[in-house]
Amino acid sequence: MNADIGFPINPFELKLEITQACNLRCSFCYLGDAELWRDNRHLPDDEVLRWIDRDVENRIPAVRFTGGEATIHPGIRLFCNYAYLQNRRIILNTNAMADASLYDEPGRLCGGVSE
Ligand code: SF4
Repeated sequence: MNADIGFPINPFELKLEITQACNLRCSFCYLGDAELWRDNRHLPDDEVLRWIDRDVENRIPAVRFTGGEATIHPGIRLFCNYAYLQNRRIILNTNAMADASLYDEPGRLCGGVSE
C-alpha cells in the first residue's frame, strides 16, 4: 500500500473497534458518556470478518481488537481464530475483567493480552 506522498506507507496493524460496550466505567474512559455503553452495540460478525479480509488483501500483518471491552463481543473467539488462520498477528486490548476461561483461546493465539 503506497500513497503519493513521497514515501511508502506500510501500516503495521488494522485496529477494529468491535464493540462500544464495556463491563467497567472508568472515569478517564475515552468513550466518555455512559450513554454509549448502555446501547451495548457490537459490530456485526460479518462486518468484522470482512475487515479481517481487507487486512489480508492489503497485507497488513496484524489485527487489533478493541472497544469498549473487546472480550464482551460474542464473536471474539471466532474473530481471533479467523485472523489466526490467515496468518495475522492478533492484538487484543482488554481490561482483563472477563471470565478467565475467555482468555484461554485468544490468549493462546495472541501470545498474551494487554490493556
Ligand atoms: S476498561 Fe477501557 S473501555 Fe472500559 S470503561 Fe475503562 S477505559 Fe473505558
